[in-house]
Amino acid sequence: MSLQQRMQNVEQRIRAACARSGRQRNSVKVAAVTKYVSLDTTIRAVEAGLTNVGENRWQDAQPKWEAIGSKASWHFLGHLQTNKVKEVVGRFDYIHSLDRLSLAKELHKKADALDISVNCFIQVNVSGEESKFGLPPGELFSFAEQLRTLDRIHVAGLMTMAPYESEPEATRPVFAGLRSLRDELNERKILAAPVTELSMGMSNDFEVAVEEGATWLRLGTVLVGKEEE
Ligand SMILES: *Cc1c(COP(=O)(O)O)cnc(C)c1O
Repeated sequence: MSLQQRMQNVEQRIRAACARSGRQRNSVKVAAVTKYVSLDTTIRAVEAGLTNVGENRWQDAQPKWEAIGSKASWHFLGHLQTNKVKEVVGRFDYIHSLDRLSLAKELHKKADALDISVNCFIQVNVSGEESKFGLPPGELFSFAEQLRTLDRIHVAGLMTMAPYESEPEATRPVFAGLRSLRDELNERKILAAPVTELSMGMSNDFEVAVEEGATWLRLGTVLVGKEEE
């Protein structure tokens, strides 16, 4: 399939999922995850209009970031080591993987030095899978409370990864769970401003995520493909 065909296919499927769940198409944004594709393919994707780019590791993102820069918005998706924070802050527009206080403090410190703020998603391990990063749901509210003093951190929303399921429908409780955590976080007014975003849904399960309220899909294989090294 060509990039154009993939983009059209994904677009139709997002539209259908929005229609099924009574949502507006423009309430769902897409980060194109380019970690499996080359610099050339990434450039073509941005030129085709996929101007939100997601990467997992700074080492892999760097040549792309240097070539594309501000023609795209940059999303950091992967587990973020504290010693990599200095590479990421100021370059990435969103960090989707805020999952611990030591990382929050480092992000705050670096952003403060640059006199900027940093948009973050708190990653929650809703499914409880051992292999997944993210805060246990039971720690979310106390964690959010601790962020209040770190005023360079702007919590845009919550992020989760569902387990891979051969039947995507099985992911629904994970996505519904993240949405109710967001709603409860807002009801309790723990953060200064309500958090609006839900970063959830990947190639295998994005339609279910849209039906459950996703505002940011993170789409790699289904959208930009997967290239052999
Ligand atoms: C790789 C990755 C994605 C995209 O995966 P696909 O299944 O190829 O769409 C999304 N989110 C995160 C956190 C990832 O690591």
